Amino acid sequence: MTYLIDSHCHLDRLDLNAFGGSLTTLLKEAEKFDVKRVLCVGVDLENSKTVKEIAQQFTNVYASVGLHPSEDKGEEATVERLIDLGTDPKVVAIGETGLDYHYEYTSQELQQERFVIHIKAAQALKKPLIIHTRKAEDDTLTLLKKHQVHAGVFHCFTESYEMASAGLDLGLYISFSGIITFKNAEALRMVVKKIPLERILVETDAPYLTPVPYRGKANFPGYTRLVAECIAGLKGIKYEEVAEITTHNFINLFKLEGT
Ligand SMILES: [Zn+2]
Ligand SMILES: [Zn+2]
Repeated sequence: MTYLIDSHCHLDRLDLNAFGGSLTTLLKEAEKFDVKRVLCVGVDLENSKTVKEIAQQFTNVYASVGLHPSEDKGEEATVERLIDLGTDPKVVAIGETGLDYHYEYTSQELQQERFVIHIKAAQALKKPLIIHTRKAEDDTLTLLKKHQVHAGVFHCFTESYEMASAGLDLGLYISFSGIITFKNAEALRMVVKKIPLERILVETDAPYLTPVPYRGKANFPGYTRLVAECIAGLKGIKYEEVAEITTHNFINLFKLEGT
């Protein structure tokens, strides 16, 4: 399994002009970087329908449905609505959800309500959660513990080692993005070093967060390779090992054994 999986991106938001307007071409281009599967993540209910449709069209694309904590337009999610959206073999997770106290587009109370709704839907569907967490360590962990969440991933992780460690104790995975390649991310690279590879996923969060050395250009799933190479360098192991283990982790978390 020496290939990579981009565990978090927003394919519907990528500018396809560089790929002849074709998602097929974009995915083929990503394969040149060893990235053979992609998880496309929903940020609101309309968009979740779109990402589900994309996943239904491409065998190597999976979807997650949810309402981002900072999303401040459109309708609110209900457990029933999320279960409805999430009942599909290509929908492998619920989210992105979580808490983001860095942005104040939505109140902390509303974010917490949404998070609990997502947790309940994920538990009803027996699917893991894609958890976005920023500057909300205590409340995130309190809600995860209160509702006994043991399946999910802290995506695009940028928080402390203590936060990561608490997530690992709950059984969660930690996903790293191109941020770990940024010049000012020394503290985060120290966190990467301490997390066992067996619990790490890799992602681009494309079209955002383009890794070094492509800062300023558009991000795309192929650049998962740069994240994996950065992790390999930090851990003093081969890139192939990072690819093999993180891909195994993804298949394990999202129950894709045999697919
Ligand atoms: Zn996010
Ligand atoms: Zn995202």
